[in-house]
Parts: sequence; structure tokens; C-alpha cells
Amino acid sequence: MNDSEQKKYIATPSRTNEIIKRYKLTMKKSLGQNFIIDPNILTKMIEAGEIDKDTCVIEVGPGIGALTERLAEAAKKVVTFEVDTRLKPILKRELADHSNIEVIFQDILQANLQEIFETHFEPEDRIVVAANLPYYITTPIIMRFVEEQLPIDTFVMMMQKEVAQRMTAQPSTKAYGSLTIAIDYYTHAEIAFHVPKTVFIPQPNVDSAILKLQRRVEPKVDVVNEKFFFQLIRFSFQQRRKTLWNNLTSHFGKNEDVKEELTRGLQAAGIDPGRRAETLSIEEFATLADELTELSQRETRS
Ligand code: SAM
Repeated sequence: MNDSEQKKYIATPSRTNEIIKRYKLTMKKSLGQNFIIDPNILTKMIEAGEIDKDTCVIEVGPGIGALTERLAEAAKKVVTFEVDTRLKPILKRELADHSNIEVIFQDILQANLQEIFETHFEPEDRIVVAANLPYYITTPIIMRFVEEQLPIDTFVMMMQKEVAQRMTAQPSTKAYGSLTIAIDYYTHAEIAFHVPKTVFIPQPNVDSAILKLQRRVEPKVDVVNEKFFFQLIRFSFQQRRKTLWNNLTSHFGKNEDVKEELTRGLQAAGIDPGRRAETLSIEEFATLADELTELSQRETRS
């Protein structure tokens, strides 16, 4: 992108500073307001999400519209959620040239996403979630999107580098945990590229990464009881340094019949009770959850 092409975009130091000054905008740290000022990062994001005129986009947090205008240029339609109503006049004016943007001033966690899909998109539309996420609620936002049965094809999201690493970690690493497994269950996850803190105003304290998630047609593993599968993972990681046996007996209890059931289940799943949760693959957790279904029923009864 040459200089004159860059100049027209909001995501440049000159235009962002001009907008901030004109509207006397003070950025709210509590809302994770760090605005992007590098148009090339946004080009790479759009490429990573394969966003084209057959794609409709849901964006979270347009801010002053840096990513939104680029999405509108590339996509068929953009529906974007912003919680900060002070940005209303800014977005109205700065995005006035784009007729394919719908700004909804609402907390994304409160939005009725099913209704949004029905109202704004056609069943044949390819849907992508694209966002430079407010870092304080990255995980709840992503989990909301992936857990609801929504027809989202791909996610391209900027987030704190460490969170992206947790979402793409391999077993037996420090970053691997219940979040990694939940993401892997629903999606193929990869870090598309890293982003330095210098491309934001104001600069955050952390480096960032663009995470790309592609929704799986079917969850990665087949389990009898999905709720219990996720509970078992949570219990197993309760205290990372403890063994699986210690975490599971802390949770299910130490009486003889529980111990017997745990021993039988672990053995049937071929898992050594002395291992730590972080060494188990998603497939091993799935087998173990199915073997321990009896305990899930006890859980429900108690
Ligand atoms: N997209 C812009 C950019 O890339 O420059 C701004 C990104 S900024 C990191 C995050 C944006 O999310 C802010 O505009 C903030 O007000 C908004 N936001 C924070 N919490 C939100 C929520 N719960 N729902 C919707 N938007 C939210």
C-alpha cells in the first residue's frame, strides 16, 4: 500500500489523531480502547479471514472505525457491536461513505446473536467474525460465539499474544489448559501472525496476535455427555501441579466406591492416574469422560 492510499484510512496515526482531537475523545482503558493505526495489519487480517464480497462480517468493538471501514470495503455487509455510545457521532460521520455497515450500540455479551443472524444475514451467506477485541473480555466473547450453534465459518481476532498462545497450545506445555481444549473441540485454531504493541494508540502493555479459528463441522471428539466432558476437564485442571488422581478425588470424593470407579475408568481409558491434566490429549479426555459417565450421574444426583 503506498502513502496516498494509506492516508485515506482511519487506521493511520494522522487520521486517528485528527479524529481524537476533533471529537475530544479520551480513550477508556476499562473498555480496552486501543485503536489500530497500521493499515497493513488490517490488510493482513482481511486476507487471513478470506473476507470478500461473498462474506458478511460481525465485528466486536469498532472504536473509531479503523477495522470497520476496511471490512466494509472488502465484505458484503458488516454488523458491528459497540458498547461505548460516545462513539456514535464519530462512527456516523467517519463511516458515512459506507452503506453496508450496521452499528449496534450494545454490549456484545448481551446481544441476541440468533436474532441478529436471522435479521441481518441470508442462510447462504458466509459469516466471519472479525475484531480487534477488547482484551479484558476476550475469552467470554469467543466462548459465547463458539458455544452457540451459530453458522460462523471463520474468526479472525486480534488479542493479547499470551491468550492466542493458550488457545493454540499443544499438550505438555505451560499454555495448554481447559481453554485450549474447548477451542480445539469446536474449531481449528492457528496464530495467523503477531502484532507489535507499537501499532496502537494508546500503546497497550502487551504484544498481540491475530488468532484464526475455523469452525469444525462436527466437534473434534464425540462424547456421550458434553457437559460432563467439560466439567471433567475443569476438575482435572483445578490445580495444575497436582496429579489427575488428586484433582479428581478432591472433586468426586475419597470414599471407596468413588476411588474404585475412578480406578476402573482411568484403567479402561489407559490413563495413568499419576499423570497431570496438561499431558492429556483431547481424545484422552473424551475417552475418560465416557468411561466415567457413572460419576457424572452421581454428580447430577448430589
Ligand atoms: N476496532 C477498533 C480498532 O481496531 O482500532 C477498536 C478496538 S478496541 C481494542 C476495542 C473496542 O471494543 C472499543 O471500541 C471498546 O469500546 C469496545 N468494547 C469494549 N467492550 C465491549 C463490549 N462488551 N461489547 C461491544 N464492544 C465493546
